[in-house]
Amino acid sequence: MRSFIAIERCDRCGAQARHAATKPGYSELLFCNHHYREYKDALLSTYWVIESDVSPTEPRPAAAYTEG
Ligand SMILES: [Zn+2]
Repeated sequence: MRSFIAIERCDRCGAQARHAATKPGYSELLFCNHHYREYKDALLSTYWVIESDVSPTEPRPAAAYTEG
């Protein structure tokens, strides 16, 4: 499990990365949710190790509104 930061982007489409695939001797691959689903089976069948975002629905802190 790991966290992803804003500059980590899907290698396919540039969306926020939520999954990383690693394999010895290869560069790390980053995927958004959409492309992870698309490539997951192929990656797992070729022994890539997948790390997924620990908080896929991370709530954004609410802005400190001061009403009135
Ligand atoms: Zn993508």
